[in-house]
Amino acid sequence: MRKTIPQKWDIETDVVVVGYGCAGATAAITASDEGAAVTILEKMPAGGGNTRISGGGWLTPTDVGFAEYVETLCGGLTEREVIRTFVKKAMGIGEWVKSVGGEARVFKPAQVSYVAGPFPGASFPWLPGSQHMLKMKLKEPADDGEGLWKFFTDTVEKRPIRVMLNTRAEELILNEKGEVAGVMARKEGGQLFIKARRGVILTTGGFGRDEEAKRDFLPCRPFFDFGNPANTGDGIRLAQKVGAALWHMPATSAALGFKTPEYDAAFCISFKTERFIFVNRDCRRFVDETGLEDHEIAAIVSTFDARRWSYPNIPAYGIFDETGRKKAPLFEGNSGFNRTLYKWSPDSSIEIEKGWVIKGNTIAELARKIKLNEAGLEQGLSQYAGYCRTGKDEDFGRAGETLVPLDTPPYYAIELYPCLCNTQGGPRRDSESRVLDPDGEPIPRLYAAGELGSIWGFIYQGGGNNAECIVFGQIAGSNAAAEKPWDDSKGNARRVVSCIGDRIDGPNARAG
Ligand SMILES: Cc1cc2nc3c(=O)[nH]c(=O)nc-3n(C[C@H](O)[C@H](O)[C@H](O)COP(=O)(O)OP(=O)(O)OC[C@H]3O[C@@H](n4cnc5c(N)ncnc54)[C@H](O)[C@@H]3O)c2cc1C
Repeated sequence: MRKTIPQKWDIETDVVVVGYGCAGATAAITASDEGAAVTILEKMPAGGGNTRISGGGWLTPTDVGFAEYVETLCGGLTEREVIRTFVKKAMGIGEWVKSVGGEARVFKPAQVSYVAGPFPGASFPWLPGSQHMLKMKLKEPADDGEGLWKFFTDTVEKRPIRVMLNTRAEELILNEKGEVAGVMARKEGGQLFIKARRGVILTTGGFGRDEEAKRDFLPCRPFFDFGNPANTGDGIRLAQKVGAALWHMPATSAALGFKTPEYDAAFCISFKTERFIFVNRDCRRFVDETGLEDHEIAAIVSTFDARRWSYPNIPAYGIFDETGRKKAPLFEGNSGFNRTLYKWSPDSSIEIEKGWVIKGNTIAELARKIKLNEAGLEQGLSQYAGYCRTGKDEDFGRAGETLVPLDTPPYYAIELYPCLCNTQGGPRRDSESRVLDPDGEPIPRLYAAGELGSIWGFIYQGGGNNAECIVFGQIAGSNAAAEKPWDDSKGNARRVVSCIGDRIDGPNARAG
């Protein structure tokens, strides 16, 4: 729907960045360093989005040969030029961090976590090109998402960048030539018209909390979310309304998690002992549990059985024994939205009391409590015990040293669902971070970066999202800053394209 033309701008700037996470911060820092006046709009009381609750690491290619690996993971859904640009520029992320005042280091984890894949290298080491990558984290102030976010906010605050919190972008404004010329935002109930003389960069993150979009685009349901509640796909609708094509909508970074109604976000469940297996609703194992790369989980659990009209692997159950229970908590609390909201007890005893973890003195009792077939679960576990005795997993090839029987009662189960770290889909863009229309033509003065329409079109490589935010944030910031200001002096008519908001009426609200 078209709206009334605003009579005046409340704020004028060169570059408007919509969304204050890793991609938005990088874009703003770069545009500012290249001489542009920058305004960041963030709809929440604080920035950080998924960045702040992430693991804080990023991948760094050591050689351009890594592009072959990324191409394979993207499954032909991302142009070679985009991938090559990503790989080349990502090789320099450590240097970029240094150039703006930070220090990065190669990351080697102290402890193995099942399920996580062969961290810290490439998740799929058998694919060509996989040997050319490292994972990196910040040295200071901390190597988690909080530390990464503090680094970004400190770096933004050292620059003349205007950050407007509690300010939600609701419309993109086009000028007479059809160029993106500004943003209509809402702050404290009032509308603000913000002119972007050079360009607008969308970095609003994904759609992990947009139930409608998840229903429309993701391969199975339910699909819960570990992430930021504000990632509701706003940037997708903003871009669509000005003619953007979409890409990578079904792609995700997703793991298995536990969801309880008391918390909006799900808990990412990880096992730090080999004393566990997964079974599906048929009491069958469906994967090599310790060889699983947790970001690929959607591809594994989303098989639909049309004859039974159900997803047999949703929910799945993590089954473990008393020895396993005592070894480590199931939720580490170092990432995800719940990380500061709930502390999981070291031996899950509190979660057993709450009924989140189900206990059975025998396998049959456990099966009854989780409504699985008793004989089926007993048979599944006895088959697994047989593989442990022979040291050979006949079904999924789980590594011999991880084949430890679950032989100390009582037994436990936790219900597991596919849960998003984040989505990858959004407006299609090119190697210059320009948002493209369905004909592949750039929408003038509109850029995007980060999780909103990321390059990861098919299977995701851990560390790839933060890397992509930093790479395409820099490119978007630099290109938007280099645009010539559009000419507003001749009184060009402006029109407003509606995206999310309601009627434009009343006097323009003032900048806060
Ligand atoms: C639990 C977890 C662990 C992860 N671990 C890693 C990891 O270790 N390594 C890695 O590479 N990736 C990881 N990721 C993924 C990665 O963190 C994200 O993909 C990345 O941080 C996204 O950054 P972004 O800037 O694109 O979006 P975000 O950081 O999500 O920021 C988007 C911002 O836009 C704001 N916004 C939305 N709509 C509007 C609007 N209309 N107006 C104004 N503002 C708006 C949001 O409030 C938000 O602050 C993890 C994700 C999760 C959830």
